[in-house]
Amino acid sequence: MPELPEVETIKRTLSKHLPSRQIKGCEIRLPKLVLPAPEEFSRTVVGQKVLELERRGKFLLLHLSGNLSLLCHFRLTGQLIYLPDGQEEPPHTHLRFILDQGNLLYADLRQFGKLELLKREEISRHPSLLKLGPEPWELTPETFCQLLQRSHRQLKALLLDQSVIAGLGNIYVDESLFRAGLHPTRKASSLSPEEAVKLHHIICEVLKEAIATGGSSVRNYVDGEGKSGTFQERHLVYGRRGQPCPRCKTPIAYTTVASRGTHFCPVCQK
Ligand SMILES: [Zn+2]
Repeated sequence: MPELPEVETIKRTLSKHLPSRQIKGCEIRLPKLVLPAPEEFSRTVVGQKVLELERRGKFLLLHLSGNLSLLCHFRLTGQLIYLPDGQEEPPHTHLRFILDQGNLLYADLRQFGKLELLKREEISRHPSLLKLGPEPWELTPETFCQLLQRSHRQLKALLLDQSVIAGLGNIYVDESLFRAGLHPTRKASSLSPEEAVKLHHIICEVLKEAIATGGSSVRNYVDGEGKSGTFQERHLVYGRRGQPCPRCKTPIAYTTVASRGTHFCPVCQK
């Protein structure tokens, strides 16, 4: 599932192509993908220009002329790709915006994603966006620390909760907790202020490094130009079940925390 670094990378790569492009046509091949229903969606969006792109948590917003915005939920396997004219579209393409130059495609293997057309003023009261907490770098180390101290939930469950911190998913929580030497089931309030400040710093660093390397291409993630990221080559625990811990050589353990598959080192993470 695209997390904060992947959606940020999609935003940055699409921002090279989309602003000022006009939508000339819209082919919807999977009706359940769009809101409102295809006919109205298409009628409303055709003729509009793309103004700019914005990311909120794991959501991407394409701001359009006509006081409209397109809210993209990628869920597990959604891809939004700019395709120059004359190039072959990727498999599982369910929607094509025909632009005055090139095309914007939405592809989705598992078909859980959504493209929702909103009026600009509806953004601020959209339920998915309304409940988003601050992004990690919008918190000071002190406020992050207080947030953990007030919670008796397991560390991993708390960090995955988008209403507490926006943008972190399974990959970056597992990677950050390993780098911080913290066990995913530790109670959030049990961290010392030093441990909490270190964790906050590590989360910000891991996300920045992941953005700089174009995100993690696990499952089928690609950026807005159809290219893979490379942060998966730097994963220390995620997807490395049974392989030796890079620090102590103990096999990486795998369990379920907060109903998510969780990778950790049973020796290094306390
Ligand atoms: Zn270890």
